[in-house]
Amino acid sequence: MRATRDATSWEPAQRWVPDSVWIERTEENSPLARRVQARLPGALTYVTDDLTAAEPGDSFAAGKRRLVVQRHRGSFLQHCPAGTTGMVCCNYLVMNFGSNCPFDCSYCFLQEYLANNPALKVFTNVADGLAEVDRLLRAHPERTFRIGTGELADSLALDHLTDLSCELVPFFAARTNALLELKTKSDCIENLLRLDPQDRVVVSWSVNAPAIIAAEEAGTTSLEARVAAAARVQAAGYKVGFHFDPLIAHDGWEEGYRDAINVIFGRLDTRRVAWVSLGSLRMTGRLKAAIKARPQRGPLLTSELVPGPDGKDRVWRGLRVKMYRRLLEWLRVVDERMPLYICMEPAGVWEKVFGDAPADREVAHRLVAARP
Ligand code: SF4
Repeated sequence: MRATRDATSWEPAQRWVPDSVWIERTEENSPLARRVQARLPGALTYVTDDLTAAEPGDSFAAGKRRLVVQRHRGSFLQHCPAGTTGMVCCNYLVMNFGSNCPFDCSYCFLQEYLANNPALKVFTNVADGLAEVDRLLRAHPERTFRIGTGELADSLALDHLTDLSCELVPFFAARTNALLELKTKSDCIENLLRLDPQDRVVVSWSVNAPAIIAAEEAGTTSLEARVAAAARVQAAGYKVGFHFDPLIAHDGWEEGYRDAINVIFGRLDTRRVAWVSLGSLRMTGRLKAAIKARPQRGPLLTSELVPGPDGKDRVWRGLRVKMYRRLLEWLRVVDERMPLYICMEPAGVWEKVFGDAPADREVAHRLVAARP
């Protein structure tokens, strides 16, 4: 079910419910496990010492129907993988409080990255993750960090089960040298509306042309529903952001992306938009094979892809630059001061699109400084 197109009457999309819940025995009485059980009273639930049974090696889609509640071992914080070979880096940090996502975008890199462990996971030891962030922020009071939870998971799609945002938002609201980004394709914002972000939280939506959302983003909310949710959180004091990523060259792409920009920014206060990013389709051989094995195919793989310096294939540089420039042109008509960046692109593409290529860390400085 998709949320209503009329954003003035709010009808949230149906919330995700798993087929089964697997809880690590030592975590059974953790606050998170208790919340999940209370929110899913009729769910088929296993409390176990051995979570391998939750990953029996069946299909990726079947794995996405299981919810695992467990302790996270190792570091919660990682550097965004964009800071790899030959790409301009925006010094973004990712914090993983779970992995995988209930939606089913055909281009999703998690099909490759989590191919062997696709169950949706949520981690119980949130306090350990926040302690790690706290140590980092205290060690570098001179820097402002951008930290997001939407790299290996959708930041909000499970919030109706976990209330994770109720721990993250107050934590970041009390800090002065970090911005939290919650990135989503859901409209699961009810908790956010009850919290005060103190200008330290950006809620962002990955967006696309409506034809691509319909063909390639199964289970996600419509563009109108994402914008309606953005308008509501903006009115509640949050900054918002948008990621046109992946841009996909399809029949009518210019009209599609221009219409999406009009739908999005026609309803929002652009002065409270923290950033907008653009990125192109990035593909590895294994991801391409996973996409080809899907039962239905949209326009995703119709363009010719060429290898990049980071080992990922993209559409050829001339077309990428053309698409970035067109979107930039339309975005600057909306607001000439809109903070913009392109994601996972080399300096040469930045120069063609923006006229210059920022040095290391400079992207982050520009974005934070643009809308302090
Ligand atoms: S919303 Fe993001 S994480 Fe979820 S399936 Fe789509 S691309 Fe993957």
